[in-house]
Amino acid sequence: MIELAEAIAVVESHARPLPPRRMRLAEAVGRTLALPVVSDVDSPPWDRAMMDGFAVRGDDVAAAGEAGVELDVVVDIAAGDVTGIEVRRGSCARIMTGAPVPKGADAVIPIECLLPPDSAGPPARAGHAGSRVRLRDARFRAGQHIGRQGAAFRVGQEVLACGMRLAAAEIGLAAEAGATHVVASPQVRVAILSTGSELVSPEAVPAFGQTRNSNGPMLFAAVKLLGGEPIPMGVAADRPEAIRAAVAQGLAADILVLSGGVSAGDLDLVPEIFARAGVEKIFHKVRLKPGKPVWFGRLERADSPPTLVFGLPGNPASSLVCFELFVRPAMRILAGAGRDAWHLPRAKAVLTGATKAAADRPVYLPCRLTRSSRGLEAAPLPWTGSSDLLGLTGAGGLLSLPAGGKRYEAGDEVEVVLRD
Ligand code: AMP
Ligand code: MG
Repeated sequence: MIELAEAIAVVESHARPLPPRRMRLAEAVGRTLALPVVSDVDSPPWDRAMMDGFAVRGDDVAAAGEAGVELDVVVDIAAGDVTGIEVRRGSCARIMTGAPVPKGADAVIPIECLLPPDSAGPPARAGHAGSRVRLRDARFRAGQHIGRQGAAFRVGQEVLACGMRLAAAEIGLAAEAGATHVVASPQVRVAILSTGSELVSPEAVPAFGQTRNSNGPMLFAAVKLLGGEPIPMGVAADRPEAIRAAVAQGLAADILVLSGGVSAGDLDLVPEIFARAGVEKIFHKVRLKPGKPVWFGRLERADSPPTLVFGLPGNPASSLVCFELFVRPAMRILAGAGRDAWHLPRAKAVLTGATKAAADRPVYLPCRLTRSSRGLEAAPLPWTGSSDLLGLTGAGGLLSLPAGGKRYEAGDEVEVVLRD
């Protein structure tokens, strides 16, 4: 049995980023960028109207008093239009947000500054090309409401750096910069195998002695939520041939996550099967509650990075805690993520109720987290133990209490893991 911190460090030391590859932008969502993105355009690409209104010459407007300024509208410019018409002294252009500012103009006056006309023109044309407008903008500043060419970034500039996670803004920026493809970490493929002769599929009504396979769907969800590609392998009964065949298939993935069959019972066949499949055992059993029986190893492969292999305890809550502590960092590292993204964040919180640490092992207990004027508060939740998923639902966090059997009271400060 090894200590928890050591076990986590060992997993981290065996995980390596998968080789990056070139992919379409749509495929790169959530991945880590492995080559910088350099823009092929300025942003804004040209001087751009940032408001609907009138493109004017600042010197025409600066001289205007209380009554505003009267200008001839020489052209209407919608977004997507281009015009060769110049805004000369005493004139302006009606312009829409996103349209290029015409030659001669150097500021935009918002449409809200349009005053009723002095003399009635043809009403349909009022405020458009061919009409005369009166504008008054009490807050006028030179150059206002124009997005200047290159103000955000320039052609040839690196806009996305290696190691960045491609979330929504980054994907949008890559598109703006002309990167239809990027070089990024591939999706981590995680095979998920549930073992146990008692397990039936969720559609079945379990007979006496049977249990629905909840780990399969749960681990599928956990992998998917981390941006990985879950490969569901179903259930293998506690027979060596059944587990062996499924494990052989699962070892083709980047990570194999198996649940059940790793403790010390008669039918806990998994460690032996892993050994026969050539998977090197790195640790078995960690000082941790729940999750003590967890198994970790790796299989060397000729033409691809090693497969990391996790044997998680069958009890669903133990399985999930072990997933978060061990599989999560492995997936993150394979996906090329920086160290600060390997683990769920931890924080200090004030307890709102009493709880107790385990004597011999660090323990994780579900809690509800709320923010109050006193900071982060953690309410211990009722939980019957490692098979109780209900107690974990709605729990925004896990209390992380060191071994020692200490009693904690309301008001004590504790460490919590923030679940996502
Ligand atoms: P094991 O780790 O195989 O000894 O299983 C421990 C407990 O977890 C037993 O009560 C199993 O029935 C239960 N269990 C194992 N695998 C699953 C699963 N996939 N879904 C739900 N419960 C499971
Ligand atoms: Mg079992």
